[in-house]
Amino acid sequence: MLHAGACDFCSKQGWLGFYLCDDHETIVLLCVECETVYLSPEDRDRGSRARVSDTLPYIVEPINVPIVGGRDATSIEVTARGWGARIEGDTGST
Ligand SMILES: [Zn+2]
Repeated sequence: MLHAGACDFCSKQGWLGFYLCDDHETIVLLCVECETVYLSPEDRDRGSRARVSDTLPYIVEPINVPIVGGRDATSIEVTARGWGARIEGDTGST
């Protein structure tokens, strides 16, 4: 999983992964520990978390796109989104 560094919201317990949502178009930053979602690295910089529904399939409410059904984004996808410079590391395939 490619990530943009540690999550600030859960005191850096988890990585903020680049996640491709169910529409296979939207990429968000998703914390693997506390499930914080940011719509962009800029929102992360501002500490502006996106609201996500409490139940499956975990709709990212501002954009009405489900998280469940997606997968980790690839470096090609993150770069195409213009966020290549925001990739800080890769946790591997787990
Ligand atoms: Zn977190």
